[in-house]
Amino acid sequence: MKNISLMMITAVAMILFIPLIINGLGKYNVPVNVKPIPESAQSQNTVKTDPSSRDGSTITEYTVDEGPEIKVFDAQNNKLMKMKLEEYIRGVVAGEMPAGFEIEALKAQAVAARTYAITRMLAYGGKGCAEHQGADICTDPTHCQAWISKEECLKSWSPVEASEKWAKITAAVDSTNNMILVYDAVPVMYPMYFSTSSGKTENSGDIFSYQYPYLRSVSSPDEQVAPKFTSSVSFSNDEFAKKFNQSGYGIKLDKAKLSSQVKVLERTEGGSVKKISAGGKNLTGMNVRTILGLNSANFTIEFRKNEVALNVIGYGHGVGMSQWGANVMAGKGKKFDEVLKYYYQGVEIKNIKSIYK
Ligand SMILES: [Zn+2]
Repeated sequence: MKNISLMMITAVAMILFIPLIINGLGKYNVPVNVKPIPESAQSQNTVKTDPSSRDGSTITEYTVDEGPEIKVFDAQNNKLMKMKLEEYIRGVVAGEMPAGFEIEALKAQAVAARTYAITRMLAYGGKGCAEHQGADICTDPTHCQAWISKEECLKSWSPVEASEKWAKITAAVDSTNNMILVYDAVPVMYPMYFSTSSGKTENSGDIFSYQYPYLRSVSSPDEQVAPKFTSSVSFSNDEFAKKFNQSGYGIKLDKAKLSSQVKVLERTEGGSVKKISAGGKNLTGMNVRTILGLNSANFTIEFRKNEVALNVIGYGHGVGMSQWGANVMAGKGKKFDEVLKYYYQGVEIKNIKSIYK
């Protein structure tokens, strides 16, 4: 390692890519040792109200299986927590998606989060979190999934709306109790999701190392309402050249010749930069996203006299379910299963217990 930025980039790249790189070397990474969940590890709550009905008049009763214990590494406070699976899922939905989103979008998020969790849980034959030994999963959103405790959540909201918001998140999780995504009879290993698309999602193979059949590019219109749909950033020529030259890729850009040294060579089906040449070296758009700290790999570059300006569309890696896209779909009346089947092509929604017998 030559410098800190190289170390940081390498660390980020490892966090983002290693699971996919490793998985990409073989066939699908399927849980091979599917274990039954012991009765003692299960608990049930009954009778929940569902504030998801639009007129607020319907009360739905359903039974909630809180699931087995999950070991969650709290990456912010460096400690291992243990809780029931469904308590964890409530915290993920709260941490990953605004409670103000449509209930059907929150339900889609709950199913995606649960699918991600169970495919990693040792109790279901998963391998746990690769970053934290002994943990099933961690709360680092760049590695596993964001998570926030109920207490933190309630503190972050105004007292007037806190109980209503938490009830909505609880309803989203509880009403999808035990539901997971399945492809070809196997739980989906990479139910990836991200904040905002550019109008289309990305093929996983264009962004990461492997093309999963359920992670295909689909159009995702009307996300202009998202706060990070577009963003702009500019660098002085000197700053721009330095960022590339210090990136660890062995690039030598001359700040006086940037427009001839940096060229976008290829774009993905989803619109992101797939291949870009910088000083004779080929990089991916994701590499450049990391080097320049961009919101996504979907960008255009404009070389001005003394600066380089980049216009970026979307926020996140662009693979799988767009959270803002899910909210748009839900706002148009789509149900959570329709949202999930749209963003994860070819999947089915199944009860955990029909898979892990
Ligand atoms: Zn993790």
